[in-house]
Amino acid sequence: MAKIGINIATGSLQKEEMIVGIDLGTTNSLVAIIHPESKQPVALKEHNSSSLVPSIIHFDKYGGATVGEDAKQFLIKEPENTIFSAKRLMGKSYNDIKENASFFTYKVIDDNTESLVKVQVGEKFYSPIDLSSFILKELKHRAEHILKTPVTKAVITVPAYFNDSQRQATRDAGKLAGLDVLRIINEPTAASLAYGLGLSREESKTIAVYDLGGGTFDISILQITNGIFEVLSTNGDTYLGGDDFDRVIIQHWLRQSGLSETDLSNNPELSQTLRLKAEEAKKHLSSNETFEAEVNGDRLSITKVEFEALIGPLIERTVRSCRNAIADSKVDVQSIESVVMVGGSTRVPAVKKAVSDFFGKPVNDSVNPDEVVAIGAAVQADILAGNNKEFLLLDITPLSLGIETMGGLMDVLIPRNSKIPTKVGRQYTTQKDGQSGMRISVFQGERDLVNDNRKLAEFNLSGIPAMPAGFPKVEVAFLINADGILVVKAKELRSGVEQSIEVKPQYGISDADVEKMLLDSITHAKDDIAKRALVEARTEGEQLLQTTEKFIGKNATFLTREELIETAQAMQALQLALTMEDKDLIHRKVEELNDISRPYAERVMDIAVSSAMKGKQV
Ligand code: ADP
Ligand code: MG
Repeated sequence: MAKIGINIATGSLQKEEMIVGIDLGTTNSLVAIIHPESKQPVALKEHNSSSLVPSIIHFDKYGGATVGEDAKQFLIKEPENTIFSAKRLMGKSYNDIKENASFFTYKVIDDNTESLVKVQVGEKFYSPIDLSSFILKELKHRAEHILKTPVTKAVITVPAYFNDSQRQATRDAGKLAGLDVLRIINEPTAASLAYGLGLSREESKTIAVYDLGGGTFDISILQITNGIFEVLSTNGDTYLGGDDFDRVIIQHWLRQSGLSETDLSNNPELSQTLRLKAEEAKKHLSSNETFEAEVNGDRLSITKVEFEALIGPLIERTVRSCRNAIADSKVDVQSIESVVMVGGSTRVPAVKKAVSDFFGKPVNDSVNPDEVVAIGAAVQADILAGNNKEFLLLDITPLSLGIETMGGLMDVLIPRNSKIPTKVGRQYTTQKDGQSGMRISVFQGERDLVNDNRKLAEFNLSGIPAMPAGFPKVEVAFLINADGILVVKAKELRSGVEQSIEVKPQYGISDADVEKMLLDSITHAKDDIAKRALVEARTEGEQLLQTTEKFIGKNATFLTREELIETAQAMQALQLALTMEDKDLIHRKVEELNDISRPYAERVMDIAVSSAMKGKQV
């Protein structure tokens, strides 16, 4: 299935690797791809089985992990060895989750601190990153088995409300599983992409994504402009989902059979059977009027009408969240142009109806709701792979972009993580009198000195008319267009001379390079601050020497012999200090020179002012 290409370096044939899309869900996870031949999205599955892999991990007594449907069988039999909802723990400390601690039937280490949680199974401890990596590993294996090719690159989705550390944790889990995570994208964004929303450049739209999964409910209001997805608001309930639907069915059956909750807690076998039956009943009622079954000799039944009455209050809660999300987004309900349905639980007709009633329009439900997020991730992966040239890759800048200023310092115009397209301008000036050209060197990276960053381009703005230093106004503008092309323009505003250049900042740079550059900037942060301070001190010193020299040249006649000697000595001392790696020394020498020149500078100024006044006499 993978594309075959010719390696230009070796001349040999090689398989071009496919980038997969992964929905790493709280309840279920799955992998999707865009089929290289048909160009159609497909959720990967083995023959006669589901594409969904339950996000459940069971550990046997040797610490061996089983993931998916096989692990699900142990949920009630071996709660302490069976981990579900690991996603809820991503990037969390015990303090973050202690209010819901009873939800977890396995052992979450309660150290009551701000450090990240761990889960204990038997003698072993697992971080949520470890746990998620087990699921990702399983997905990777399945995908490789189905595609018959190695899978090492992926786009993974996360909830829109995930913060940076939760996103990072997800990336780390991917890495642990042997996946190069090319991009983390928001689940609602992925869902919209699966419907083709936001793919065309001109489109501008406000949409709602309603996601009711197994244990969580999210509503997101998104603004799509020129392919940029902006989350206007999110709302929801982290403990509301299809599992609650199952629970009301079980309670209904307990009433029906005369059994009690205690009968259940004493009988894990029965409890598990009822739980699985309830889920079966719920799914059955999404397309049938009644469900009947026999469990342990008891006849159990439920009708669609009964079921809908039972879940009415739960659905009402989701509608309330929608109302809040709309209020927070500052758009009104009528301006929502599309409503996208996500999550297995939106298959329930009563849910669809409630959502469609609230938004006052039919909902988008043509794409399988439990595959729609993975499919959207696959669409994004396909664009990243460059297979989908019509669609632009709208995005953010992974590294900062800027120009070199005095002393080789990086002056950032577009900080990393800026949304594109974007435009930024800043004014600069000349350092020398009569300077007619200005070199604009464009760099990419996070370090303070341009030498440590990546040079993208360089050009000369020439033809600046002769003016004193500091007089010309050179506006440097950075513009990144929707295709990710950077245009750098420099224009001297007084004379109108201008010059521009185009670069592709991402050209020839891999994700690994970006990562390395970011890491470097962190490890060298302290160093860089010191270097920047030194460069700034030197620049200041050099400028002071220049202006003092100029001043003396013009005004020597107004100065005493002592003043001239003292100034020359202080200048020499500063000159010497500039050659040393000591910013404090430079600062001291700058101060000393200033102290000497201040009195006569003021005197000369007074003379100049009074003669100017004279000249202006009426
Ligand atoms: P998550 O995003 O939390 O991983 P999913 O989107 O996979 O969850 O949704 C899982 C939930 O969807 C489960 O509660 C499951 O019972 C429910 N579900 C799946 N199919 C149906 C159906 N046909 N009718 C009702 N609920 C369904
Ligand atoms: Mg989901």
